[in-house]
Amino acid sequence: METSRRDFLAAAGGVGASSGGFGQEQTHEHQAVPSDTTLRVKALESLLVEKGIVDPAALDKIVDYFEHKVGPRDGARVVARAWVDPEFKDLLLGDAPAAIGKLGYASVRGEHLRVLENTKMTHNLVVCTLCSCYPWALLGLPPVWYKSSAYRSRAVIDPRGVLQELGCTIGEDVEVHVWDSTAELRYLVLPERPAGTEGLSEDELAALVTRDSMIGVAKIRTSVNEAVR
Ligand code: FE
Repeated sequence: METSRRDFLAAAGGVGASSGGFGQEQTHEHQAVPSDTTLRVKALESLLVEKGIVDPAALDKIVDYFEHKVGPRDGARVVARAWVDPEFKDLLLGDAPAAIGKLGYASVRGEHLRVLENTKMTHNLVVCTLCSCYPWALLGLPPVWYKSSAYRSRAVIDPRGVLQELGCTIGEDVEVHVWDSTAELRYLVLPERPAGTEGLSEDELAALVTRDSMIGVAKIRTSVNEAVR
């Protein structure tokens, strides 16, 4: 049975509970007992530390890196460069790892990155139906709602409905494509550059780019198009 809107909103942590509510960090769906995966990871970590194969301080550094040093601003810089540099944009759409490498970013080892361009006629939406695969290298850690079962299932079944609920209205004439991420292949959306931004610098453009727009659940908002989200 399809998840009701109320279930989805609750699982997502309250879409629209406040302005931009879905874009904020949300309450996790707690489990009484850690998942099998969590327990296995903990067991493996304890064993590796006990045998002296890994240093706990090194593990903390890696976690800290993804929690605090990498974030959506990196993805935003990539998007802004693509908006101002057609050659970079071509490379980004054809060979994303090579393009982001030019800006000093690299995919996490073993994963490939593909960038999907949103246009007037095409809207791309990213999900991981299996778990929470996400372009960490450019966006940091995924938001909790991205990992919710409601988003993972409904984004595929009813992408237009989900987008509408998130305040992202997609015209009937626009094709919606849903991309299911995997551990080997992650996706980043290149949002459409909003009208009226011709005079902005690359940094000013980057400041407009939100995490949600790079997942494909929001359009870029400016003071000019505020009403057209
Ligand atoms: Fe996943």
